[in-house]
Amino acid sequence: MNQSFKAVNIDCNFDYTYERERLAACGVDLLLRKTVTEDDIIRACADADAVVLEGAKTPMTERVILALPRCRLIAKYAVGVDNIDAAAATRAGIVVANAADYCTEEVSDHAVALLLASARRVVSMDRFVHAGNWAGFTRAQPLRRVNQLTLGLVGLGRIARATARKMAGFRLRILATDPYLTGPGNEPGVEVVSFETLLRESDLVSVHVPLTPETRGLINEAAFRAMRPNAVIVNTSRGPVIDESALIRALEEKWIAGAALDVVAEEPLPAGSALRKFDRVILTPHTGADSVDSMAHARRTVVDTIEAVVRGFWPPFPVNPKVAPRVPLRPFSEWARP
Ligand code: NAD
Repeated sequence: MNQSFKAVNIDCNFDYTYERERLAACGVDLLLRKTVTEDDIIRACADADAVVLEGAKTPMTERVILALPRCRLIAKYAVGVDNIDAAAATRAGIVVANAADYCTEEVSDHAVALLLASARRVVSMDRFVHAGNWAGFTRAQPLRRVNQLTLGLVGLGRIARATARKMAGFRLRILATDPYLTGPGNEPGVEVVSFETLLRESDLVSVHVPLTPETRGLINEAAFRAMRPNAVIVNTSRGPVIDESALIRALEEKWIAGAALDVVAEEPLPAGSALRKFDRVILTPHTGADSVDSMAHARRTVVDTIEAVVRGFWPPFPVNPKVAPRVPLRPFSEWARP
């Protein structure tokens, strides 16, 4: 075991006693830094063996990655790694790892909450009653029984599958599209279809893809035009997957009926964003993953990740499993943890 392994957390936000104690026991020195720019990160991590981060905006760009001569691991307290240039890390021999399953339950719960709130117009009705009203709630679109609706999942990974399992209890038809599935999808009750069919046949479209060059703007003007006029789009993945100006036009011109968004293109959502003006849009402040349980889960996973690499094993959730690591690693499954 390397006795002088240095891990640098570059955007720390809370108390790291748990991490420090567990990592000290395996010879890791955890340093806490607050960085913003690429130069800050390069300065803070010049001799780091591992870089640890939480933020969705922390710029782990190619320039930063090429300036980390000792780094063997970039570990993130999150699922989405769109702010890490994983391809550059792969070229540099650096393993990138996330906490892939830390909030599957929370985000799928949040997606279900947004889907049901949209289908039952809970938020509009709540605003109506809070404004002092009771009778006469106007419905731009008639309400439908949930089991008469079709749910379309864009992406069929961990969160989408958990969402499907929870929504299956409502006995609606569930479709999914995911070009990276090797087989039929293998999720009971979920019909795998093309993106076009999903858009055409779904009343509720729920987005669960990572943000990549391919998925940026995936839900664009053509996609909104292909959706049903009663359709609602729900996004708990990453804001830029939706072309927001196309969404605003789709809402204004009533190509679709509404949206429920935990994530938006620019976060925090600008005060003057047109999205705030629609009663048919539910907004939550990128809190889909939040719970004390998910945070504890992420912290355990990040420490496991660092400890695995220090002890010479692959981390539990490598994002770039094809990388040739700077120091060779054995399979995670061979790690017999105490
Ligand atoms: P996952 O990796 O298990 O699943 C993503 C799926 O998307 C994969 O099956 C992949 O094949 C599929 N995919 C990739 N490109 C696609 C495309 N062009 N069309 C259709 N499918 C495509 O990830 P997950 O755990 O389900 O998380 C999904 C995303 O949710 C994350 O990448 C992250 O950005 C986001 N997320 C948001 C929050 C939040 O707080 N709102 C929290 C966690 C994760």
